[in-house]
Amino acid sequence: MELKDITFSYDLKNNHLVDVNGEINRGKITTIIGPNGSGKSTLLGIMSNQITPHKGYVRLDGKQLVEFRSKEFARKVAVVHQRNSAPADMTVEKLISYGRLPYKSFLANNKQEDAKVIEWVLQKTNLSKKRNHALYTLSGGEQQRVWIALTLAQRTPFLFLDEPTTYLDIYYQYELLEFIKKLNRDLDITIVMVLHDINQAIRYSDIIIAMKHGQIVKKGVPKDVITNELMKEVYGINVLIKENKDTGIYTIPIGI
Ligand code: ADP
Ligand code: MG
Repeated sequence: MELKDITFSYDLKNNHLVDVNGEINRGKITTIIGPNGSGKSTLLGIMSNQITPHKGYVRLDGKQLVEFRSKEFARKVAVVHQRNSAPADMTVEKLISYGRLPYKSFLANNKQEDAKVIEWVLQKTNLSKKRNHALYTLSGGEQQRVWIALTLAQRTPFLFLDEPTTYLDIYYQYELLEFIKKLNRDLDITIVMVLHDINQAIRYSDIIIAMKHGQIVKKGVPKDVITNELMKEVYGINVLIKENKDTGIYTIPIGI
């Protein structure tokens, strides 16, 4: 996926994204970091064809996103937001089955294939036992797993996650990140996510993109991106950067 000269604003006064260029590497986990309002969700919206840039374009497999038909695009890219809502009586299996919609057409419905994929998803996400449970009876971490399961039923090579851990306790944050990493490593799904926790971004990303004021400040492998200078420039904070021999570098914020 290639981003070329992307500029976008929600109103006439401000530019919310300015000349964003870059590439999303296939098969990798890319994490976007940056302060509130820096344009992370807007950029994700543009990469997932929910927002059309005023200038520039995104290309996927050599084709601009605006040229995709919606079902065709839904077979390529799936998105999970920090909060997702479903009707109160929605069950796990029913929700997952919506992931098959991009594969239905007026002429052809392959129910057998759909059932096979849904079984596979339930097993991959460890949700088989909960298949008939109403979504709201599940824990926050399980609910996020169900929304991701829906995207697995979509069979997309790309999965975008906007702050997927925000409403989870720390244990379930790591559990979800481990699960996301497994999807990337085992199923070769290219992940692009937004995270607030810098140490989690370091730990779980192949590539980090740091944003500020609608621009990409730096992109690269975690140890090159997360420096004292960058943390000062992007977040306005001073940090200590330490090294742990098992897990690599981590940061400790010490003030402004
Ligand atoms: P982030 O996800 O990094 O917090 P966003 O992409 O949500 O940032 O927002 C970037 C900027 O665009 C912010 O200044 C925000 O106020 C503005 N913005 C976001 N969504 C809208 C909207 N729907 N209408 C107007 N302005 C918006
Ligand atoms: Mg956001």
